[in-house]
Amino acid sequence: MTLGTLEKKPASLYRNVGEQFDKATRIMGLDPNISSILSSANNEIVVHFPVKMDDGNVRIFTGYRVQHNNMLGPYKGGLRFHPQVNIDEVRALASWMTWKVAINRIPFGGAKGGIQIDPSEFSQSELERITRRFTFALGPNIGPEYDIQAPDMNTNPQIMAWILDTYLTTVPPAERHRSMHIVTGKPVESGGCLGRNKATGQGVVFTIMKWAESRSVSLSKLRFFVQGFGNVGSWTAKLLCEAGATMVGVEDITGAIFSESGIDPVELEHHLMLTGGISNYTHAEMVSHERFLSIDADVFIPAAMESQITAETAPMLNVSMVAEAANGPTDPDGDQILEDRGIEILPDILCNSGGVVVSYFEWLQNKRSESWELDEVDAKLKKKIFTSYDRVEEKKVLYETDRRTAAYIVALEYLDKVYKERGIYP
Ligand code: NAD
Repeated sequence: MTLGTLEKKPASLYRNVGEQFDKATRIMGLDPNISSILSSANNEIVVHFPVKMDDGNVRIFTGYRVQHNNMLGPYKGGLRFHPQVNIDEVRALASWMTWKVAINRIPFGGAKGGIQIDPSEFSQSELERITRRFTFALGPNIGPEYDIQAPDMNTNPQIMAWILDTYLTTVPPAERHRSMHIVTGKPVESGGCLGRNKATGQGVVFTIMKWAESRSVSLSKLRFFVQGFGNVGSWTAKLLCEAGATMVGVEDITGAIFSESGIDPVELEHHLMLTGGISNYTHAEMVSHERFLSIDADVFIPAAMESQITAETAPMLNVSMVAEAANGPTDPDGDQILEDRGIEILPDILCNSGGVVVSYFEWLQNKRSESWELDEVDAKLKKKIFTSYDRVEEKKVLYETDRRTAAYIVALEYLDKVYKERGIYP
């Protein structure tokens, strides 16, 4: 399926990407030939693979890897475990990766993968076997110079370590140490990068800092609430609070909480580790989803699922700005309502790109057998994100458009230039 030929169908994440993409190509006047190339994914891999469960029975699982585009470099993108993972969602996520790396001028292409499971239903050893067997099933479709995975929803450094270990068994012993960059977001001891775990949240905070600075808003006066308290949400919350901001609400899969005087993210994380979720945290009141969305604050940070801000929910928001830490949290109807209401957006392809930037740093270190200090990683990330933010602002002014469309234009102009330079074979 291509981005340009999407019919009107019920909820499709990929159709949302199509609408965003079409708007940008129309405004910038992208060459239709380049537009048609970027409208479809290069490769879509679907694998069904058997795994032995703890009780001795065998179950068949379905996994996806969509390789959207590799004009700028090897395919790069996360791996998600979720019961609702499907090809439409993975297509959308893969194309967002292409735009993200292009905005940041990183020599990677865009890809994404997923396995259709609810990880909470499986033991650690079952998750390990699922991960390893999926890696094996992908076979030559992945490689350190070809397609590199990283953590996403419900995956983490441990899962990346299993992917690494499984992949290394498939290459000759003498080449193993040269293949450590098969995956990023690894544990630091297994070749990971200092600061990768917090990188996406750190990038979100850097974009919020730039936004606040341009409006002369002090971070110490900023009140925010966050949906999702996993890797991205919890790091964003901790780093923003360290910078002086106040977190007034949090929602995760177990419920939503609110406190007018502020919630300490470190204490909340402690509670989550003990209980498995944020609900029943004693220093805040439990609230409904609707009450959560209508919290009066400066910034709302969706850091969980896609399509959370829609025609139904966008009118409930009571903020000046939405910082899209999640991928695709706002659908086109939601976008329009936020724009009409004067609520600004820091778009996902800019806002949450810190993860892939530091993944690139990890990939480089593995290739060069280097190990960078944390302050070096943070400084390089800050420079990248600040520069990308400025690039987007420049196009926003030039084309008199919204920030999401401007971010697409930054990416598409760059890809267009590279296609024009290199031409189409033969
Ligand atoms: P995670 O699995 O670590 O955390 C997900 C969080 O969302 C959890 O707190 C979970 O309880 C919550 N959640 C799930 N369903 C929910 C629902 N229906 N309502 C409210 N909360 C819900 O995942 P993550 O890695 O933090 O990823 C979160 C988002 O950020 C995803 O959209 C992901 O694609 C995006 N993202 C992640 C990275 C990364 O480096 N991990 C990079 C870029 C973008």
